[in-house]
Amino acid sequence: MAANRTFSIIKPDATRRNLTGAVTKMLEDAGLRVVASKRIQMTRKQAEGFYAVHKERPFFDDLVAFMISGPVVVQVLEGEDAVKRNRDIMGATNPENAAEGTIRKAHAESIEANSVHGSDSDENAATEIAFFFKPEEIVG
Ligand code: ADP
Ligand code: MG
Repeated sequence: MAANRTFSIIKPDATRRNLTGAVTKMLEDAGLRVVASKRIQMTRKQAEGFYAVHKERPFFDDLVAFMISGPVVVQVLEGEDAVKRNRDIMGATNPENAAEGTIRKAHAESIEANSVHGSDSDENAATEIAFFFKPEEIVG
């Protein structure tokens, strides 16, 4: 499969513990290349818009509060089968279920504060990349 792109967020629990480099190394070691990256403080409006798909879920308000509780690092990752490759190295949403060797197994604090976001489809990856990056900010 040809190289393609996915979207990643290093979440506030990880930036707070100074794990930006450790998480990025795990992504790179998994065969993903960081082709765009910026550290930002998300606004409430941005977080609500980004997670709009979850707005009916009971954890939505807590999730938004968590995502704006500190800086995040938004990234575009490139590699073969990038969406799946990233989901595999992230591990399960709940760190209690995450496999050995995954980012969430190694670093997540809880099902909510689980260190990383990753797109779940090529279509959502394209939408999520466009939510945070202009095309000229992505340099392969
Ligand atoms: P994933 O990030 O693995 O794709 P989801 O898309 O289902 O997981 O959920 C988005 C985010 O919402 C999760 O990464 C996590 O931060 C939070 N979340 C999911 N389920 C719960 C839950 N039951 N309680 C609290 N937070 C949750
Ligand atoms: Mg998801």
